[in-house]
Parts: sequence; structure tokens; C-alpha cells
Amino acid sequence: MEVEDLDENEDLVFAKFMKAHKCYDLIPTSSKLVVFDTQLNVKKAFFALVYNGVRAAPLWDTTKQDFVGMLTITDFIKILQKYYKSPLNEDDSNTTHVVRMDELEDHKINTWREVLHDYSRPLIAIDPDASLFDAIHMLLDNKVHRLPVIDPVTGNALYILTHKRILRFLYLYIYDLPSPQFMQRSIEELNIGSYNNVATASLDTPLYIALNTFL
Ligand code: ADP
Repeated sequence: MEVEDLDENEDLVFAKFMKAHKCYDLIPTSSKLVVFDTQLNVKKAFFALVYNGVRAAPLWDTTKQDFVGMLTITDFIKILQKYYKSPLNEDDSNTTHVVRMDELEDHKINTWREVLHDYSRPLIAIDPDASLFDAIHMLLDNKVHRLPVIDPVTGNALYILTHKRILRFLYLYIYDLPSPQFMQRSIEELNIGSYNNVATASLDTPLYIALNTFL
């Protein structure tokens, strides 16, 4: 599909654009992909994300010889939420469900996937030949921000697709595409964004409350 073919119904121009491009088109010539074995210690995984400057990693299960999930910042927040015991709540110290943070250091990724019941959640991944339109649908339908692109032939993870990457790609072409009518309307008119129950934190909100709010 050529850019010129898109202008019959201008409102659909972005959808058509996304249908006309493959996930493969967004994979950079060179990029960093960090993969974690599910036997890796959670603490090491956290530092590995930070040191490598990446926000997420696909999880590899050696026994299954397959990718089984993702590890993202949300997962670390979930771990903190589950295990963090505020020093202000000393009364909780006798309850059995409380695991001390230092015990957490021995946890493997597999262990907390069990704890968080994440085993049941299958990996959502996409083929490099699938369209960007399908990728966007997958991201939205599954409410995730990371979509690994996996080569169906080799089984290798090639790239992790994100909303940000897709928007940047659209931005590269946006001045070459016809501008749909709705682009002239305001974000409020189009009801884009959240206008009610906006979550906030104040300067003295404890960090663990802020993290809970994110979750
Ligand atoms: P982030 O924390 O970077 O915003 P997400 O919002 O996508 O990432 O992650 C939300 C939850 O969904 C996390 O528990 C994460 O492990 C999981 N998740 C993210 N992407 C996928 C995927 N492609 N397949 C399965 N689970 C995923």
C-alpha cells in the first residue's frame, strides 16, 4: 500500500498506515535486547535492567526452551508491594505472610512468578511479518506496554515493540500523510485523556503509597 492510496477516507489514514507497515519495519539495525533466564535471581535481574538501561526483558525458560513471559518495572513494583513491610508497622512482624526484604534477595524470577500467579499469563508476542495495526491491537487488548517480536523460524526474540516506538515511527511520516479532520479538534472535544479521578501524590506521600497508586 502506497502513501498516495490512503487519502480516500482521511479519518482512517492512521489505521491504514499501520496496516501498511510490518513490525519488522520498526526493528532498528542495531539495538540492545536483554533476556533473563527464569532461574535468575530477582535482585540480579533488577540490577541487570538498570545497568543495561532497558525497561523490560523477555523471560526464557530453559526447561521448556521457550520464552514464557516478560519482566518489567511493573513486576518490580508488584514485588515491592507484596513484600515491603513498612518500618512503621512493626505489629505485622508476626504474621506469616510477611517476608522480609532481605529474604527476597534469594528469590528467583520463577519463585515470584509462582507467588504472583503469573504462570497463568501467557506471553503475548508478535511475528515480524504482522502489521503494526495488529501490534497496536495486541498492546491495547492485553493492556501491556511491551510486545516482543519473535522470529517464527529461529524462535529468537528480535526486538521489544512499544507504544513509544510506534508513535515515533508515525511521527516520521506524519507530514507526508493526509491530515484527518479530527487532528484539528481539541483533546477535550475528542475525550482523549483522563478527566476524572486523576491519581495524584503530594510532596509528603510515602513512596510505598505512590507505588501502590501506580499499580
Ligand atoms: P511496564 O511496567 O514497562 O509499563 P507493562 O505495563 O507492559 O510494562 O507490564 C504490565 C504487566 O504485564 C507486567 O506484569 C508484565 O510482566 C506483563 N507483560 C508486559 N508485556 C507482556 C507481554 N508481552 N506478554 C505477557 N505479559 C506481559
